[in-house]
This record gives sequence, C-alpha cells and structure tokens, in this order.
Amino acid sequence: MLWLNSTSPHLDEEARNGAIAVMVVGSIEAHGPHLPLGTDTLVTQALVERATEKEHAVVLPPLPFAYVPENRHFPGTLTLSPEALLKVLGEIADEVGRNGFEKLLLVNGHGGNNAILNAFVMSRSSERRPIVYAYLSPWETPKDVEERLAGGLQTGHACVIETSRVLALFKELVDMKSVDHAARTGSTNLPKGVMSSYWWQAKALELYLGDPRMATVEKGEMLNDFMVENIVKAVRSVNEDTITPNVADDFAKRAFKHVSSR
Ligand SMILES: [Zn+2]
Repeated sequence: MLWLNSTSPHLDEEARNGAIAVMVVGSIEAHGPHLPLGTDTLVTQALVERATEKEHAVVLPPLPFAYVPENRHFPGTLTLSPEALLKVLGEIADEVGRNGFEKLLLVNGHGGNNAILNAFVMSRSSERRPIVYAYLSPWETPKDVEERLAGGLQTGHACVIETSRVLALFKELVDMKSVDHAARTGSTNLPKGVMSSYWWQAKALELYLGDPRMATVEKGEMLNDFMVENIVKAVRSVNEDTITPNVADDFAKRAFKHVSSR
C-alpha cells in the first residue's frame, strides 16, 4: 500500500494494525551515457512496490536525494551533504513514528549510501520510535548467476546487471545506442585497505563497468525476481521481528535512566 495513495483514516488504521513503513533511499546520479539518472531510485521503488504486494507494508515515496559526492563530475548528479541527509532521514523517521508506526525499513538503492545509512541506523538507538531498520544491499544475486550473466566482466554500476534490470522495467528510458564499447576502467593502485576520496573516480572512468551491451530484458527479469524475493524476505523479517522491540525497550530504560524526559 502506498502512503501517497492512502486516505488519512486508512493510513491511521494501517498504523494501528501494526503495519510497518518502508522507504527507498535511492540516488540521482549519472549511470554511464545510457541509463536514466534516477536508475537507483526508479528500479528499487518499482521492486519494493512489487514485493509489498506479497508482504504487506506501507510504502513511502522514495527519497531520491541521497549521497553521491563521487559522481559530480558527470552532468545530472545531485547529492546532499552527509549532515543534510542524516537530518532529512531523522526527520522523516520522526514523522513516521509520530503517525503511529513502530517500525521503518529503509531499502537502499545505491551502494554509496551504505556507510551513511549504517551510521544513521546505529544513531537511532537514541530515539525509541520508530525502530529503524535498513536493507543495505537488496540487489544481491547469487555470485554464480551474476558471473554467468555478466560473462565474468566487472559489475557494480550501469553494468550488464543494472542495465538489464532497467531494460526489464523501463525499456523506453534506456539509450543503448550511446554505448559502443566496453567500459574503460582504471585504479589508483593503492594497496588493499588504503582508500582516498577518489578511489571510485579512478576506477569507473566512464561511470559504467563491464559491457552493458550484453544486457537483455530476460536477464533483467531474472535479476529483478531475485531482488523482489530479497525484499519480500526483508519486509517479512521486520514484520515478524519481536526481539528488536524488546531489546529497544530494555536498552532505552538502562541507557537513559538518568535522563528524566524519557
Ligand atoms: Zn545504480
């Protein structure tokens, strides 16, 4: 059920019946020359909507503004600062909780959001409601399947995997004619474990990886089915989770026992 499509009394009823809220955190960023800027937001939202037909949740509109400082040298990329994103996420979570929802699951659409979502979820232990969960990598596909579909080439951004996903959902938004060669890639050659602000820019020179020309609708449908199942499992696990609310209650009592306002 979509938050935006719901009436006020119906939404209230959902909260009272213990529905969980789900929100996609996507991105707006260049995805090679051929995929839409909103790829991470569009794909993840479409698959979350499909998944929540199987496992009930109230789905918020996706947050497209997220954390993409690394791709700002390509037109169309928009990023928030970490501070702004943390504040926006915090205020949205507070508002979801104020409307009576006990649990909020964030479903991530962009690998670059991982670190900040991790920090956000951990920081929410200082707020009792709603309990915030995050599914950081809903796109994961069994390694052997991914390698077979990608012909062993690099994956991870606007690659055959992601291009197939978009082709299967939004074929009309893909400009395959703009890709006429496999990705040129590079490296900083820094040893494993040593990073800089520019590791990604040094690697993804054209903001795509591998060879997107191998993408097909059929591959995309298979990959999207995996992702829907991943999301169904995640939503179900949050729906059924009784341990975390008990831990949260106990934690709040002990961690904040000297703070009178709680
Ligand atoms: Zn992407």
